[in-house]
Amino acid sequence: MSQLIPFEMEVRVELVSDLHIAGVGRTAALVDRCIELDAQGRAYIPSTAFKGRVRAHYERLMRALGYDMKVCKPPAPQNMCHNPAKLCPACALFGAPVQQSRVEFTHLTPVEEKAEPTTRIGVGVSRQLNTVEQGRLFFYEAAPSAHYKTFTGVVRGWATETELTHLIAAMRLITHFGGQKARGLGRARVQVQQVWLQQNGAWNAHDPQTLLQHLKEASHETL
Ligand SMILES: [Zn+2]
Repeated sequence: MSQLIPFEMEVRVELVSDLHIAGVGRTAALVDRCIELDAQGRAYIPSTAFKGRVRAHYERLMRALGYDMKVCKPPAPQNMCHNPAKLCPACALFGAPVQQSRVEFTHLTPVEEKAEPTTRIGVGVSRQLNTVEQGRLFFYEAAPSAHYKTFTGVVRGWATETELTHLIAAMRLITHFGGQKARGLGRARVQVQQVWLQQNGAWNAHDPQTLLQHLKEASHETL
């Protein structure tokens, strides 16, 4: 196995449309689905949602590059890799029931101060019949993208140089966060701002673009 390098990445998310990430701890009058807010009342993207999105795109990328993803189908633990000696590349990095994760994600927190969530109206759709159910209006909150423009967070852990490159590429494939995607919510652009690698006992800054260049060259070789 290639050498594991301790790393830290600074990630910046530009929100393009209003964001809906369902919260569990809040209720509001006449609102069916509230959004997640932090202790200061600001909208944010929880680390679990952040990690989930990155992992989904990492898996897509691995398939596109021809890696053997076994029969691994997260997030249900019973459908994920169970043999620690034969993990798919995603379980090896992000963890599985039998394997601790090598990457840790912080919450993505807004640069902006708090703002009142907007309330939107949706019409319930019965998935079985694919028709609009009469009278099934529901109200849900969203974090307004007119106010919340930028979220930042950190990803850190241990990875090989190849995994790091794939991780950066996977983040750039992300197009949205949260729910109500079909209604156009949560569209976002993700950029890795800076990558820090611990090499020979010292932390050195690297340009993500340079690391991605290696992936470009590698993927052209396999095509
Ligand atoms: Zn797996």
